[in-house]
Formats: sequence, C-alpha cells, structure tokens
Amino acid sequence: MRILVVEDEQKVARFLKKGLEAEGFEVEIAEDGEKGEQLARSAQYDLILLDVLLPVKDGFSVLQNLRKDSIKTPVIMLTARTSTEDIVGGLDQGADDYLGKPFSFDVLLARIRSVVRRSKQSQTKLTYKDLTLDTVAHKAYREGTMIELTSREYTLLEYFMHHQGELVTRKELARNVWGYNFDPGTNVIDVYVTHLRKKIDADFKVKLIQTERGKGYYLSDKKLKF
Ligand code: CA
Repeated sequence: MRILVVEDEQKVARFLKKGLEAEGFEVEIAEDGEKGEQLARSAQYDLILLDVLLPVKDGFSVLQNLRKDSIKTPVIMLTARTSTEDIVGGLDQGADDYLGKPFSFDVLLARIRSVVRRSKQSQTKLTYKDLTLDTVAHKAYREGTMIELTSREYTLLEYFMHHQGELVTRKELARNVWGYNFDPGTNVIDVYVTHLRKKIDADFKVKLIQTERGKGYYLSDKKLKF
C-alpha cells in the first residue's frame, strides 16, 4: 500500500516515513502543498496524509482541488489546528478523517486502517490502466470491451487489482482466493491464471498479468524487479 505524506516539518515527516515503512507501507513525502498536489495527481496512492499549514499551498486548498477534479484518494488531515470549524471544514471538503497533532502513532495506524477499509468497501470500480473491474456486477472491461469472468476468475482478478504492482505468491493466492491455509501443491492456481490471462490479455497488445518465475504473479503493464 502506498501512502503520500504531505508535511513540511521534516522531523514529523521522517517520523511518519520510518514508522509507516516499518508497518510495511510504501511512503513518499512532499514538503509543500504544490508538490503534494502534483504527486497526488500523478501517482496512485492508497491514502494521503495531509498537513493543513503548508508552504506554497495549504492543505485545505490541496484537498479542495483534488476533490474538484474527482481524485478520490482517501485523505486524513493532520494538523495542530483542531478547532471545530477546522475539523468540520476539512470533512466538508472531502477529508476522510482528521487527526490533531500531536497524535499517537497507534491511533494514526488505526485511523489509516479504518479509512482504507471504508474506501475499499465504497469503491464500485477498480481500475488499472485500461482494465476496469466492476465490483458490483463482477465484470471486467478492457478498453471498454466487456469480459465475462467466472466467479473464481473474478475473485482472482480482484485480488490482483487490490495489489497492483505487487508480487503475489501462489501461497498468498491459495489463502486469499481459494481460502486454503496450506499450499495446495497442485497447479490449480497456474491453471486459473492461464484462464484469466486468456480473457484479460490474449486479445490485447499490452499484457497486464506478469509471471515472476518460481515466485508468483503480479499485475503490471511492464516487467518489474522483485
Ligand atoms: Ca505544517
């Protein structure tokens, strides 16, 4: 999971980066509002931690601009300003949560988990490049063409969509897609991935499901190094 931290106080930014990376998150830092907004627009993050008082452009303006352009990445505002008006203002502009400084790291983690969970539940569409997954109708689309999936293929693809660009091992798929708590030790997973590939990739120039030999698979439009 990728988190963008927009924070100008270096000490706080470093503390957040270190702590969140220790929890397994990928963290990028922007030191002012302008840069934060640019990064938020250009890269895919699962969450943004956004300070309010920032150089160049304040956090409220950043949030407002992102929401105006339908960038719906969940945002937790972090700030020393915790007056009721600030909190209400932030939430009105589309912040998902609000945390006053100083905060406990454990509380922040709990808020992050809760915001991410809520945002995943409310998403009806998952997208990666020209691939879209309708999580209500359980259908996939590439370049707008509908692709019928069996229920297992759907669950498998949904798992890949939630882990874009991450190496997914067979063991992980066995556990999360098939519900096995053991390595099935058969080629059932490879067979399903092959089926899924036929539907998702065979008719398209850019292939999205990649194999990492001996390790597993990952969703990406290019080969990655793990
Ligand atoms: Ca600040």
